[in-house]
Amino acid sequence: MSYILAIDQGTTSSRAILFSEQGELLHVAQEEFAQYFPADGWVEHDPKDIWQTVVNSCKNVIKIANITPNDIKTVGITNQRETTLVWDKHTGEPVYPAIVWQDRRTANKCELLRKDQALVDHIKNETGLLLDPYFSGTKIQWILENVDGARDKANRGDLLFGTVDTFLIWKLTGSKSHVTDATNASRTLLFNLHSQQWDEKLLDVFSIPSTMMPEVLDSADEFGIVDESIFGAETPIQGVAGDQQAALFGQTCFAKGMAKSTYGTGCFLMLNTGKEPLLSDHKLLTTVAYRLNGEPTYALEGSIFMAGATVQWLRDGLKIISHASESEALAKQADKQNKVYLVPAFTGLGAPYWDPDARGAMFGLTRDTGINEIIEAGLKSVCYQTKDLQKAMESDGARPTTLRVDGGMCNNDWIMAFLSDILGANVDRPEITETTALGVAYLAGLQSGMFSDLDELSAMWSVERTFEPRLTKAERDTEYDGWLDAVNRVMTK
Ligand code: ADP
Repeated sequence: MSYILAIDQGTTSSRAILFSEQGELLHVAQEEFAQYFPADGWVEHDPKDIWQTVVNSCKNVIKIANITPNDIKTVGITNQRETTLVWDKHTGEPVYPAIVWQDRRTANKCELLRKDQALVDHIKNETGLLLDPYFSGTKIQWILENVDGARDKANRGDLLFGTVDTFLIWKLTGSKSHVTDATNASRTLLFNLHSQQWDEKLLDVFSIPSTMMPEVLDSADEFGIVDESIFGAETPIQGVAGDQQAALFGQTCFAKGMAKSTYGTGCFLMLNTGKEPLLSDHKLLTTVAYRLNGEPTYALEGSIFMAGATVQWLRDGLKIISHASESEALAKQADKQNKVYLVPAFTGLGAPYWDPDARGAMFGLTRDTGINEIIEAGLKSVCYQTKDLQKAMESDGARPTTLRVDGGMCNNDWIMAFLSDILGANVDRPEITETTALGVAYLAGLQSGMFSDLDELSAMWSVERTFEPRLTKAERDTEYDGWLDAVNRVMTK
């Protein structure tokens, strides 16, 4: 038997997942690691933890499956995006912990830079992104400016930058490959979507020497060979994509108009917009969906901060449920006349509002409101926010034709049914909801020749359940208008 090993390096844990040559998910090993919050708004990971949990998970999955490392024909890597590492190219030692995508330490810097409208426009037009601390650019700059000696070393060509994929490939290949793929590159704030190369002007603006930057490869490509010392076999790394792009690929959303929405802690809606980058007028991000044979396919992306996290708040904050899954039965029992709206702006609002100062609120409480109604309002808020993103995409001229869902929350039938109701569109839940790992398994399998083309992959995707809308347009509009009114009341600008 031959296997594909998918490494999924996430924000809170690393996982190794073994797939068969037919794309069946066989075994999973997982290890969590520590989060560090050294100051308000700062989030860091120890690079050693990232590396060690990946190696442990890979070794464990090989053990659990009872195979030899030689049985693994190809490796794929998907990862938390934007998280920034800088290391010494001679010693391999990171000069600073990994600065995680959630980290807001460069917020003031971004605020200042945003006064330069020409720069804001350049960033939007060339990278498809917003000038925000979320992306890697200002994080690299922060390291160079704040770590003793880093600037001098960088100027001498002694430091390398990488997102997590690049760091892992560098370590896995015994320091031989300093590379990334186009999807990860497109989250750095430094990658020009049109030329598909690092943007010289932006490297200059952020004072980042080009010698630090990895080579940008396709998403299915030759990223290097895993050194024999690591798992006991030399195996090529042949598929790489950032986590959300990998999920889009795993959902086989290969045609323009196909979209996937991942409901984990947050929610990420990503729509395939085809061969040309579509710039948003509604604060959505334009990004590389995947790049094959040198040809990029683009996507529009919108993110919501609080999806599953709203359910966590019902559980841990309000303590009105003891397990996330309980929310389903209780929401079903809510009063049919319930008009409570919960706006979960606990950490501000994401796309399409981007209001970091907004805070959460509940509206429409009456004497009849009980915990079931509050739970229902919490679950509905996730669906309304998806509708906001759907609307924004439509206004940008890109209407999603298909929506495929994944992530922990998509197992909640009540949420998926209401999602379909409020969107007025079918919602497809696939058989395999581990779409992120599946996406890079597909990419690696394509490059290694196990799969012949995208059509073969599309044929392997299968639906577990389709949710169809039950509300009339008038009912849908009334429900949604109530949400828009509630959001308006929490917005600060
Ligand atoms: P992540 O990858 O972001 O950690 P997961 O995809 O594992 O997230 O999904 C976990 C999230 O989904 C949690 O926030 C949890 O509250 C929520 N969740 C899981 N199962 C359910 C369910 N049956 N109903 C509602 N929410 C759920």
